[in-house]
Amino acid sequence: MELSDCKLGAQSQLVCSGCRNLLLYPVGATSVCCAVCNAVTAVPPPGTEMAQLVCGGCHTLLMYIRGATSVQCSCCHTVNLALEANQVAHVNCGNCRMLLMYQYGARSVKCAVCNFVTSVGVPTSTTEQKFST
Ligand SMILES: [Zn+2]
Ligand SMILES: [Zn+2]
Ligand SMILES: [Zn+2]
Repeated sequence: MELSDCKLGAQSQLVCSGCRNLLLYPVGATSVCCAVCNAVTAVPPPGTEMAQLVCGGCHTLLMYIRGATSVQCSCCHTVNLALEANQVAHVNCGNCRMLLMYQYGARSVKCAVCNFVTSVGVPTSTTEQKFST
């Protein structure tokens, strides 16, 4: 894969709303007209986080706006689920050690077996948690 990376001023990328091609546009533009299908795609407001995923059908790298739930591939038209927003993590129940699943970002999980509420609000930055007894 050869991408021309000539840095002529600041450029950004977005996916065409019509044909799903990756478009380049100068930073500051509010909309981009696609050269392929002539669809006008609105530029997401600054600060919009873009995320990437690999197509499950053809393994092309796809870009999507973070928070989207699904992304259609421009090549094979496979609809990929954007799992990042609702990733599932695991934790062991603090009481019965049962392996529990919870939605990423949750602060606590209630065990289905013993109803014990296990706190999972531990950011990855600090693993040094003091459990005073
Ligand atoms: Zn297009
Ligand atoms: Zn694909
Ligand atoms: Zn439990």
